[in-house]
Amino acid sequence: MPESNESTKKQSYGISRRNFFKGAGLVAAASAMAQLPITGNNIAEAATANSIDELYEISKDYKQFNQKNEMFARMEWDTKFIPPPKPTITPGSPGYTVLDIAAGGAAGTVANTLGTGFGWRSGNEGLYSWSSLGAAKPPQEPWKADPAEASKAIKRFAHDNRIDAVGITTVDPRWVYTDWFHRGTKESGKIELSSTADKPEIKEDGTKVIPTKMKYVIVLLHRMPFEMVSTSPYVLGHAGTQVGYSLMAYGASTIAEFIRGLGYNAIPAGNDTMLSIPLAIQAGLGELGRNGLLMSTIGPNVRISKVITDLPLATDKPVNLGVRDFCESCKKCARECPSGAISEGDMTTEGFNISNNDGIKKWYVDCEKCRVFWNENGGAGCIRCIATCPYNKPEGYWTHELGNKLAPILGGGLVTVDDWMGYGKIVESEDYWKNQ
Ligand code: SF4
Ligand code: SF4
Repeated sequence: MPESNESTKKQSYGISRRNFFKGAGLVAAASAMAQLPITGNNIAEAATANSIDELYEISKDYKQFNQKNEMFARMEWDTKFIPPPKPTITPGSPGYTVLDIAAGGAAGTVANTLGTGFGWRSGNEGLYSWSSLGAAKPPQEPWKADPAEASKAIKRFAHDNRIDAVGITTVDPRWVYTDWFHRGTKESGKIELSSTADKPEIKEDGTKVIPTKMKYVIVLLHRMPFEMVSTSPYVLGHAGTQVGYSLMAYGASTIAEFIRGLGYNAIPAGNDTMLSIPLAIQAGLGELGRNGLLMSTIGPNVRISKVITDLPLATDKPVNLGVRDFCESCKKCARECPSGAISEGDMTTEGFNISNNDGIKKWYVDCEKCRVFWNENGGAGCIRCIATCPYNKPEGYWTHELGNKLAPILGGGLVTVDDWMGYGKIVESEDYWKNQ
């Protein structure tokens, strides 16, 4: 493994019995004081807002993002990263064995076959096709329902297709990419919102056209396997990410086909076409953390996909979960980040480089440092900023759920409890394989 922070030490799978009872006693006492229930949502009850602008300072000068400036895209054209940084790990060493590498590749099967391309290319590929995949036939007449009933049907169907959370919002032009960029072919083109177009289409000059009547965005959250994620930055952590990407492609394409079967247009998308995190925030699915990621209502261990449609839907409201208040004092992701990419400072409106999205008051992540580490890590990527976050605990352990309830109350003190109980340390790959 490349050199990482001193505090990021390996651990055996799980937490020790001694620490379990130690921590359980402490959080139980705190819970009694706070009179909190030990079941329910992962994150404390949320206060709602009418718009994202009530929760975040967004500059009037904010500019839409060009996908070409996204960090992965820059690795294809920015001379600063050509030739790319060399790996510093030894293939075959613990955490980088044939077994681990095979798992990393196979976990992305749905995401990276059928031409889908992980959803981090430019969209309109494979399962993310902007036109019908032929699974659900269009009806003679479009299905008619009031927006509330339609939203309920979408959420019900999504739940039984193993989608972990759904929020609905409207297209905000600020989050639409100005341009798309295909990392494979290096082609690029404009993205246009059109009031005259009736269907999504690609013009001869490569412009991708989204009709403005497709004004609804269904945002989908997909949980990643936490034990796999906890092995990051080993290759198995990357496998956890790939499971997430496969679930995204499956989930978004299934919802899109459902909507087409109802007689409406649908664009399924991964990381392409529009910025997923602000849409998820608008859709009431979470807040932005210090780690630059969505701290969702079901924790941060999620990936996001979305479906843009003209099916009339009832929308959800943004929520204030108190995450940013907790992030102020927590800083655990910054401490544990192997590349030092996460800020320990205050929120600001200026990022580190062109891959950041200036003009919003938040914590920016130095994605250049992050991406260089990914290369040094032999293509195993990294997801430590999710694995180490105290908000993120596996389901099924009452102490974990209780810890999540206590996070907003204990503030930075919870990090001490979290460390004390052994959370956030790297799970060794060989322990992952031993624990069935
Ligand atoms: S993914 Fe990047 S920002 Fe997150 S912990 Fe790893 S190196 Fe740091
Ligand atoms: S680790 Fe702490 S500071 Fe980082 S995102 Fe999670 S709660 Fe916020």
